[in-house]
Amino acid sequence: MSDAFRGRTLRTIALPILAAIAGFSALPSAANAASCAGNPNALGTSRVLVVDPTEHPLIGTMQYPETLPLRDREVVLTFDDGPLPAHSNKILDMLAGDCVKATFFLVGRMARQFPAGVRRVYDEGHTVATHSETHPLNFDRMPAERAEHEIDTGIASVKSALRDPSHLSPFFRIPGLRRIGNVEDYLTSKGIMTWSADFPADDWLKISGQQVAKLAISRLEAKGKGVLLLHDIQARTVEALPIILSELKARGYRVVHVVAADAKNPKTPTEPSQWRLHPPSAPTVARTRWPAVPSHFVYAHKSQVAYPALAQLVAHQNGASKSYAKSVELLPRANGWSVRPVMTTPATASLPIPGANIFDVAEQTTGSVRRHARRPSAAAPHSARPRPARTEPSQAAASSARSPLQLLPGSAPINEAGFRQGSLQLR
Ligand SMILES: [Zn+2]
Repeated sequence: MSDAFRGRTLRTIALPILAAIAGFSALPSAANAASCAGNPNALGTSRVLVVDPTEHPLIGTMQYPETLPLRDREVVLTFDDGPLPAHSNKILDMLAGDCVKATFFLVGRMARQFPAGVRRVYDEGHTVATHSETHPLNFDRMPAERAEHEIDTGIASVKSALRDPSHLSPFFRIPGLRRIGNVEDYLTSKGIMTWSADFPADDWLKISGQQVAKLAISRLEAKGKGVLLLHDIQARTVEALPIILSELKARGYRVVHVVAADAKNPKTPTEPSQWRLHPPSAPTVARTRWPAVPSHFVYAHKSQVAYPALAQLVAHQNGASKSYAKSVELLPRANGWSVRPVMTTPATASLPIPGANIFDVAEQTTGSVRRHARRPSAAAPHSARPRPARTEPSQAAASSARSPLQLLPGSAPINEAGFRQGSLQLR
């Protein structure tokens, strides 16, 4: 962990005297709804969770076995890709109006363009984290030195905007969630916690704000708690956030603010089991769209993407968790399987799997980052990735008509054109 991170001082938002008595020099306090000035119906922030990044370096069940140790009906709000004042300031206004604290994963290039926006995020009590310098969407394929440079310069840019390096939290989210072992290892070696998420709300796609809110709430309801991934640079997120906050309040959810432990602020005591979702979530469409650390996957053929074994689905549905493990061959995490899928076990039964075009969805396809933060011309194209063979649309449609897909809890319908049928269809 760097000296700057170790020396990070968490700001006191309120109750400084109580904090001093308790021996915590600067731990942010939760802004509960009752104390939210001017808004007696505020959602508020129910508690502050202090985490040690070195103990649990990879979190978020979209990709990792562990996630934040939340209680039932607790949610952590995260916003990526900012700051972009036109939208970020509205997000910050709404969060302030409800006394809700969140975590912002800022892009270095945006921070250099809008340094005041970075300071506002911090000054209003949110956790400031980073998201690379230029937001390249090929972290899983770029040379290690370039990935490290992206991480380091992004951190430097945000620190520079903050003016006080200790105001930056040692949290990082890989752009596009393009995880790979060497990047995670590098972050861990620097004492930085890699955040994936537990569910996105697809707010980078061309959908309405209402749809974003609906996805956010339905996916949260499916898991019961977790880390929500949003983007403060999107107009549709500005539109969605009031609905999300209102629904969270109405449904009895509580917002948790996450900060990093340091010498003065000890971690919140937790048990290892609290860092796992209980019960383990079933595989969902949303989950299978992201490169995850291999856990319960088999490889059918090298021309196909990895997908859950049928046995896994059955095991989850029956509430079991390990009955299928014996038949599954795993690759070591550092292997980087998302880059080079390897054939191991021919599958005799398989689920419908996402087609290559599903993986073409990029966070900033239409986002404001592209306009406001010029990307390097050498950004690697998705075409470098191995692609599965495609099924003709007419063939896929015919298969779909014979046997409609059945979505799992927490998943969202995806354009059928994005699916290719495996050898066994869900019924
Ligand atoms: Zn992003």
